[in-house]
Parts: sequence; structure tokens; C-alpha cells
Amino acid sequence: MTAPAVDGVADVPVVSLRGVRKNFGDLQVLDGIDLDVHAGEAAFVIGPSGSGKSTMLRCVNSLETYQGGQIWVGDYLVGAERKGDRWVEAAPKVTAARRADIGMVFQRFNLFPMMTALDNVVSGMRMVGGVRKQAAERRGMELLDRVGLSARAGFYPSQLSGGQQQRVAIARAIAANPRLVLFDEPTSALDPELVGEVLDVMRDLTREGMTMMVVTHEIAFALEVADSVYFIDHGVVVESGPPSQVIRDPQHARTREFLTRVR
Ligand code: ADP
Ligand code: MG
Repeated sequence: MTAPAVDGVADVPVVSLRGVRKNFGDLQVLDGIDLDVHAGEAAFVIGPSGSGKSTMLRCVNSLETYQGGQIWVGDYLVGAERKGDRWVEAAPKVTAARRADIGMVFQRFNLFPMMTALDNVVSGMRMVGGVRKQAAERRGMELLDRVGLSARAGFYPSQLSGGQQQRVAIARAIAANPRLVLFDEPTSALDPELVGEVLDVMRDLTREGMTMMVVTHEIAFALEVADSVYFIDHGVVVESGPPSQVIRDPQHARTREFLTRVR
């Protein structure tokens, strides 16, 4: 007996971009991006500064609008909601709920300066999740433990190193069990000696099967943990595939040139 079919549900990507185009005025920033991220996949995005990587992540998370193509997150079209058999512009409430189901980690840690590490982690849970305070704090402590910071729960961001702040930011991003976590150069603002502790936390997340999109210049880390790598230049995917291919054996001159520059 074969296992019962689940109507192809397992095959629906968590994120799917098809021909995505985005411009700021005359500047074409995304010029027809195709990209898929499946459940449990860590998709890494590399490319020169200004190539559209942050803009792409921001479009997935409805922080930017896009002008062409489609971005699907599971069964919804980003920016739109279904009304009967039509798609209409998504209501702000719908967009906010969707955003709450996607974690995001930025280059600058973006913690609330007047809140302790624990309060930063649970803030989102209490506001959007409606979880009771005690349960939220228990979960917050578990999350801080997971990123190795339970002893720093009562510290304020100014009392933490950059690496510790970024680990708190990651704990906050995963607090609501999001379907997807986006990382935008999470280690670029850190002193070199603090990069490793943040990558360690990210490595754990990939092992736990978190679905992730990671923009980074940490090429050795991408080679180690990525399931797929997309090299983006001038708003197009120049090449993509497993890291063993894109990083070790790039087919395009632009990819090779970029890799020699960042390594
Ligand atoms: P990357 O993350 O790959 O460095 P970005 O997505 O941040 O690239 O930016 C891509 C291009 O879009 C850059 O030329 C940048 O200056 C431009 N850009 C980004 N955000 C805006 C904005 N809000 N308004 C105008 N131009 C922007
Ligand atoms: Mg960027």
C-alpha cells in the first residue's frame, strides 16, 4: 500500500516568485525573479550590493509593493486576497496578519531599546498572538535558552554585545512559530569575532528544518548549510542550484567574479 496522497499539498512551495518585477521610479530593481523555497529549505541569496536582495525579501514580507509577476507564500498571493473567485488588493489587516507569520532578522538588530531581552522576545507574542503573559514568558525563556542567552533575560539591548543582540532578534523572529524566516545580512554589522555565535544559532535552525531565506556574504557558511543558492545581479537570478554547484563550480563569469571578490 502506498501512503495516501495529500492532494499535492507537500509540493506547494512555502515561497514562490514568478517573474517578479519591481522598480523605484526609473530604476528597475527586480527584473523578472523566479525563485522557490520549499518547506524546511534554507535558500541563500548572494550577490553584489545594490542587486535587489533586500528589496526582494521586503516584497516577500509585504514591506514593499511589486509591479509585475507573482509572489506566492503558501496559498496566498502577496498583496492580494481572494474575494469569491477574484483577487483584490489585500486589506491592511490581512497583510499585517501575514507579516506576523513571517519572521525577519535585519542587519541592524532593531530591538526595542527600552525593553529587556525577554520582553523583546515576547513582545510580538503578546501583541499579535494573544498568548497569556505567563505562557508567553515561559516560551520566551525557552527561546532565549535556545540562542544561549537565558542568563541575559533581564538585560537591556545596550547591555548586550552585537552578537547577543542579534541572537535575541533571532529568538524574537521565531517566537510565533512563523512559516518562514527571512534574514537580511544578519552578520554584516557585527565585529568579526561575534559572527560565529550568530551563525551557530542559524545553523541550528537549519538543522531543525526551519524554512529560511538568507541574504549573506558569508560564502563559506552558505556552502556549509544552504540547500539552495541564488546568485542575483542587477535584479535577475544569474544562476541557482545547490551550493556545491553555484559556489564551488559556478557556470557564469559574473558569479565567478563576484565570488572571487567576496572571498
Ligand atoms: P541589495 O540588498 O542587494 O544591496 P537593495 O535591494 O537594497 O540591494 O537595493 C537595490 C537598488 O534599489 C539599489 O540601487 C538601491 O539604491 C535601490 N533602492 C532600494 N530601496 C529604495 C527606495 N526605497 N527608493 C529608491 N531606491 C531604492
Ligand atoms: Mg541589502
